[in-house]
Amino acid sequence: MSEHEHTKTDGLGEGAPLPGQALAGWRVAPRNERMAAHKIECNACPVLCQISEGKVGACDRYANQAGTLVRVDPVLLLRQRVAEGQGGVVPFLAEGSAAGSADASVEEAAEPTFVTAVGASTTYPDYKPAPFIVSSQVDGVDMVTVVTEGIFSYCSLKVKIDTDRWLGPEQANVRCRGEVVGHVSTAEYGSQMLSLGGVHHITGGSKKEGRITVEMMQTLGNQQAVEFSIDGGAQLRVQAGRAPVVDGVPEQRMRVGCGSATIGIFAQQFAGLVDEVVVVDDHITGVLTEHQAGRCLAMRPSGLQIRGRKSTPGRWFQVANPGTGWGGTDIRDPLSILEPWDAEQAWPGQRLLMVSTTGEHAAWFVLDAALQPQPAPMPPAVQQIVDRVGENCEPSLCTVLFVGGAGGSLRAGVTDNPVRLTRAIKQALVNVTCGGAPAYVWPGGGITVMVDVARMPAGSFGTVPTPAIVAPIEFSMRLADYEALGGHMAYVRPLAQTLATGAWHHEGAPTGRRFVAQPAANPWPLGRLPLLG
Ligand code: SF4
Repeated sequence: MSEHEHTKTDGLGEGAPLPGQALAGWRVAPRNERMAAHKIECNACPVLCQISEGKVGACDRYANQAGTLVRVDPVLLLRQRVAEGQGGVVPFLAEGSAAGSADASVEEAAEPTFVTAVGASTTYPDYKPAPFIVSSQVDGVDMVTVVTEGIFSYCSLKVKIDTDRWLGPEQANVRCRGEVVGHVSTAEYGSQMLSLGGVHHITGGSKKEGRITVEMMQTLGNQQAVEFSIDGGAQLRVQAGRAPVVDGVPEQRMRVGCGSATIGIFAQQFAGLVDEVVVVDDHITGVLTEHQAGRCLAMRPSGLQIRGRKSTPGRWFQVANPGTGWGGTDIRDPLSILEPWDAEQAWPGQRLLMVSTTGEHAAWFVLDAALQPQPAPMPPAVQQIVDRVGENCEPSLCTVLFVGGAGGSLRAGVTDNPVRLTRAIKQALVNVTCGGAPAYVWPGGGITVMVDVARMPAGSFGTVPTPAIVAPIEFSMRLADYEALGGHMAYVRPLAQTLATGAWHHEGAPTGRRFVAQPAANPWPLGRLPLLG
């Protein structure tokens, strides 16, 4: 969280309790004297909305319910399985009330349950302990999970788009509703990459740019579709876990490999059926008889000559411009990249296959007496290999990774000595998850986490108008380690108590909870520490 977000909270109240005091020790934030009597102030973020009864704040996440500030969404709790009828919203009880329901929560806590930060609320300012600090036992080990909805100014999305079609020049601006919200990044094998969001677009530009950026990030993070246009490039529709749509056309296949790799994979199958194969690719276009694969198969040089820059034998760069045609190039007519055949080597009747790296484009030619390629029907055996190229392509998908920096605020909610949390994470004593999904923590300084949004519960992301992104984050560790790193031990509460009464703070806390099933692809968040195997 950036420093400027903290300034409005100066003077929270004289005599504000010190970290570690008993639950009841915190004072409610002082009332703004100029505020109308029927309003209450939300202090869950620096915006400090004044909310009328029955209304919600600017982020739609907090409401004035009969004069009480509440977090409107339920907290999501993960279970390996959620039995029928168990997935509804259950209200939390006030501390100490309804012993019968509290007993029920003891029974519930007998089954492994993980309290996620989705809907958990945020305690603000920084030094307040996180809303949920939950203890439980895992394989006889006392564990604790610190749970909060983090507010991230330093955050971005890394988007992988499985296509060899050209989306735009590297570094080109990516726009959403006309605003620049990111750029085209370095392409990866078979995929184009976008870097979206980030602090410069969120807070460094105009108000509109910041607002559209966080809205775009929230929408993509919540696994919904967003339309983009790339300066000097394509129109794009992106949705996590779905095929990208490039210039209105849904992408089908990710290429099997570059042109050279495609030659290498299928050379043996082509031998005897063709005299030459050109695999057209924006990166490396392969020419079979010249390629090491053709040489090893003792194929006769065809005399075919190709435009472009030779890298190594049978591997050609820059045969055309990038585009949305054959193999991610701009060509529509494959013969346009060929020079006349070398008459010394070529022969009439030579059989040539031209194919793209996805098998979506393919053409068969036979040289006539003047060594000119003439289109001809493709033999079934060759068509079968072309089909196999396509079969080996994986479905084209968009993958959206959220990257966020857990700054001072967030860490202070875990411990009164935040650097110890950073160190404990680096020592692999702490498992960091986002909505229960495994998060990769970047090496080096700070706590920069990266998580696949498709593994997170639906609706995990929100925004606040500072502007910033709201995203769930949980830190799980052994209770002894938590104590050693200066954790807020007075706020640790057993799972059963948490299930009964909710967050330790009452103002702005969620009023209900809901069980959701753990996605089968995710490891159980409390089982990844070295000690627990
Ligand atoms: S934007 Fe949301 S979290 Fe921030 S003060 Fe307003 S209601 Fe509370």
